[in-house]
Amino acid sequence: MTTGEHKRLGRNSGGYFGETIDLPAVLRDCERAARQHGWRTEEMPASPGLRLFAFVRPAVSPHAPSSVRRIYLSTGIHGDEPAGPLAARQLLHDNAWPAHAELRLVPCLNPAGFARNQRGNAAGLDLNRDYRHSRSAEVRAHVAWLEQQPPFDLCLCLHEDWEANGFYVYELNPDGRPSLAERMVAAVARVCPIDLAEMIEGRPACGGIIRPTITPAERPEWPEAFYLITHRTRLSYTLEAPSDFPLPVRVAAVVAGVKAALAGVDGDSAG
Ligand SMILES: [Zn+2]
Repeated sequence: MTTGEHKRLGRNSGGYFGETIDLPAVLRDCERAARQHGWRTEEMPASPGLRLFAFVRPAVSPHAPSSVRRIYLSTGIHGDEPAGPLAARQLLHDNAWPAHAELRLVPCLNPAGFARNQRGNAAGLDLNRDYRHSRSAEVRAHVAWLEQQPPFDLCLCLHEDWEANGFYVYELNPDGRPSLAERMVAAVARVCPIDLAEMIEGRPACGGIIRPTITPAERPEWPEAFYLITHRTRLSYTLEAPSDFPLPVRVAAVVAGVKAALAGVDGDSAG
C-alpha cells in the first residue's frame, strides 16, 4: 500500500459521515485478545449501564525496575471516531509490545457516543473538553482511576479528525525530551497521507506535527491530554487519523504511529 493510492473521499464535510462500528463487539474482541495475552481488566465505575475499563499489562520480566517504562494509551473519547478502538483491537491482537513496557490501555472512553455515532456522550457533552471540571460521569470515573495510577513515561491519545487532509500529531513535551513525533510521522507516511498544511486546527504545524505552547491553567476547558500533562506525564501525543479516508487506512495509520512511538521509548542500558 502506498499513500498515493489514497485520496480524500469527499464524504465528510461539516461532520463525520463515514463508517460506523459495532462497538460492543469490538470491545469483546479486545477483551478476548487482552485476556489471551496476559492483561488484566480494571473497571472504572461510572454509572449504571455505562461501563468503562482499562487493560493493564506489567512489563515482561526479567527487567530491572529502572528500565521499565510506563505507557498509557486511550481512545474512543469521541463516538464518531471509530479508528481508535479498532486500532486498540489490532494492537492487542498483534501483541507486539516492547518487553520493558508496563502498559495501560483504555479502549473506549465514550461508549454512549459510539452507540449514537456522535462526538459527545449521551448528553452531547464533548468529554475531551471536560477534564478540568469533570461534569460527566465518564470523566469523573476516568480521573478517579487515573489518580490511582503511577506517573507515565509516555501517553498516547488516539483520535480522528474529519477535517484533516492526512494524519497529524500533537506533541506536549514541556521539558524538551527527545521527541517521538518525527518517527511516528515517518512510520505513518508509509500507510496513510500526512497532513502537510502549515496551519492545522488553527495552530502552526510542520510536517504533520503540531507543538503547541499551552498553559493549561489559563484554559477553561481541558482535553484529556491537558489533564495528563498536568498530573500524570511529561510527554503526551494526540494522534489524529484523517476520517475522510477509508477506515482501514486510518486504522493502519494509528497502529503504525503507536508502534513507532513504542519502539522509540528507550529503557535504560539494562532494558
Ligand atoms: Zn477526537
